[in-house]
Amino acid sequence: MRHDHLITSKQLSRADIETVLDYAAEIDADPSAVANRHVGTVLGLLFFEPSTRTKMSFETAMKRLGGDIVDMGSVESSSVTKGETLADTVRVIEGYADALVLRHPKQGSATMASEFVDVPLVNAGDGAGHHPSQTLLDLYTIRENAGLDDLTIGIMGDLKYGRTVHSLAYALTNFDTRQHFISPESLQLPREVVYDLHQQQDGTGIREHDALEEVLPSLDVLYVTRIQRERFPDENEYQKVAGEYQIDAETLEAASDDLTVMHPLPRVDEIAPEIDETDHAAYFEQAHNGVPIRMALLDLLLSDDAEIRGDGDE
Ligand code: ASP
Repeated sequence: MRHDHLITSKQLSRADIETVLDYAAEIDADPSAVANRHVGTVLGLLFFEPSTRTKMSFETAMKRLGGDIVDMGSVESSSVTKGETLADTVRVIEGYADALVLRHPKQGSATMASEFVDVPLVNAGDGAGHHPSQTLLDLYTIRENAGLDDLTIGIMGDLKYGRTVHSLAYALTNFDTRQHFISPESLQLPREVVYDLHQQQDGTGIREHDALEEVLPSLDVLYVTRIQRERFPDENEYQKVAGEYQIDAETLEAASDDLTVMHPLPRVDEIAPEIDETDHAAYFEQAHNGVPIRMALLDLLLSDDAEIRGDGDE
């Protein structure tokens, strides 16, 4: 893994993904071994959109590597309200930090921002674009629960605006997977993403559906997502699809006993709480995996140590 910035999962080869996942597993087994690896390192957090898991797990990860964080805080309390551009904000904060994590409502913002900084920048979500560090923790969770090869996965909900979906779908084309995309017609994957996926993976590995029942019994993993109200240009359009594609214990009667249910969280009403206590539920474990994954990722991006940076694949 030799990337200065992590903007989309399209950058990641299978070897890159395995490097991060293997290293995260090592860290997870013995976090104390890396507790002092980055003493004195400062991570800059720039979140222009709300975040709980991503922001807190990056903060925890940096601290568990011995480093610290500086946080721009809320948009309302920053100079953004005075009209400062994103390019100026990142150029200023790179002077305070050794790496940056950026979340922004505009798709493409992370690519643009990365052109203005020399320190590593991680895209923690650019509108409906990408969220590659989420993908790494998703892949880690899939690998732990179902394995990444010979995998049949259903990805359901808001596939149009769901950046976690876009990033995960691209990354999965590195593995032997069958991906079933389940959504109402108005929230299907963007056509350019479908086109890319077909280019990258034999077309037989990609299928779109409007009903879960058709595919549920064949799935190893069901990745459920939230219908993202904040991304709908028209509230009426949101109301038409809100509340669709929910699962409860009755839905899962048709599923394999080994089905793993995931969700990037936050959930609203997509997964009934009665599923939380079943063996299917992996979404809290998935959120917890954010810490070892982000520790591994930060260490790989911040170190010149070739040994832990994999085989040097581009
Ligand atoms: N937390 C995820 C994201 O930031 C999913 C979501 O918000 O629904 O994209």
